[in-house]
Amino acid sequence: MYTITLIPGDGIGPEITEATRKVLEATGVLFRWDVQNAGLDVYEREGTPLPERVFESIRKNKVALKGPITTPVGTGFRSVNVTLRQTLDLYCCLRPSKTFKGIRSMFQDIDLVIVRENTEDLYAGIEFEKGSEKTRRLIQLIGDLTDKTIRVDAGISIKPISVFGTERIVRFAFEYARRNKRRKVTAVHKANIMKYTDGLFLDVARRVASLYPDIEFEDRIVDNMCMQLVLKPELYDVIVLPNLYGDIVSDLAAGLIGGLGVAPGANLGEEYAVFEPVHGSAPKYKGLNKVNPLAMILSGVMMLRHLGEFSAADRLERAVAAVVAEGKDVTYDLKPRPDDPSAATTMSMANAIIARLA
Ligand code: NAD
Repeated sequence: MYTITLIPGDGIGPEITEATRKVLEATGVLFRWDVQNAGLDVYEREGTPLPERVFESIRKNKVALKGPITTPVGTGFRSVNVTLRQTLDLYCCLRPSKTFKGIRSMFQDIDLVIVRENTEDLYAGIEFEKGSEKTRRLIQLIGDLTDKTIRVDAGISIKPISVFGTERIVRFAFEYARRNKRRKVTAVHKANIMKYTDGLFLDVARRVASLYPDIEFEDRIVDNMCMQLVLKPELYDVIVLPNLYGDIVSDLAAGLIGGLGVAPGANLGEEYAVFEPVHGSAPKYKGLNKVNPLAMILSGVMMLRHLGEFSAADRLERAVAAVVAEGKDVTYDLKPRPDDPSAATTMSMANAIIARLA
């Protein structure tokens, strides 16, 4: 029996979480769900979107399954997702992108793994608001230290990338490659422009790569990487990136395999693991029982493997593949036309997967 922290999230979160919970229970693996609400509704009720009890639960259980949580733009609270990753030091965001037969996508046979650094870079949350006293002082300091002038009406975000942070994420990528019999790791950067951050990332990546002679290593500049991925994705295998490029390129990779509805993810640290879909809370679909539960169900498959439940994970993945290949009990986004009246609901797709599990 595994005790798992279950965070349903907001928007479409609760419906895909319910579907995923049912499917995971149907594998026969025994779970006790420690349900912890977080997000917009909790913010309205408890004054914070991420109460301490959520951290306590994850610290105790070590493993969490999480639905998406809305981050209001420009106002309100900081991203719950970013806060969780930073507070629990979930330094690695692992996002496999694999095509399933039957999903319409530009390419077949894609099998990429994106390894995104999760704690540093422009996501570190070091931000200076336009017009504030601190920003004025920072602009002054930068003027004193460099020959650069920043306009007084600028906002500023700081991009820290450390040797420590880079070393552990690149090591993770190589260890993952070794464990999963992958042939190549590609490091992505913009070292030609940002010499002291991306340049450092590349230098450290090269150094770590030299410790893994059994695995091929190469690097790509991020803009070129994006073009290469839409032209020749089959050339790539494990891709390791700093936080911001990782965020963007993993959505690109999700697009290559048929969209956000089918892209799972995991946030991993030394101690804790939080599994969640790549997509967000898609508020306009909230409560319609309409969206695709696969991204979260496949995040559940990753969780099963993390728990060592390999046979249940394989069975569930095969059941998903069978339902998708048949193309009947799938949600609107996997139908040839999004207004197809025969599209399955979130829950009926989950039930079809359960039926195949038997
Ligand atoms: P989104 O991923 O929520 O939705 C974008 C579009 O993708 C949707 O309109 C829909 O067309 C499609 N989509 C997403 N999930 C789908 C699914 N399961 N099935 C079918 N189609 C699906 O992105 P957004 O609109 O940019 O973000 C909405 C909110 O979610 C924002 O507040 C954002 O901050 C938040 N967000 C949270 C997380 C997280 O919790 N980890 C991740 C990304 C975004």
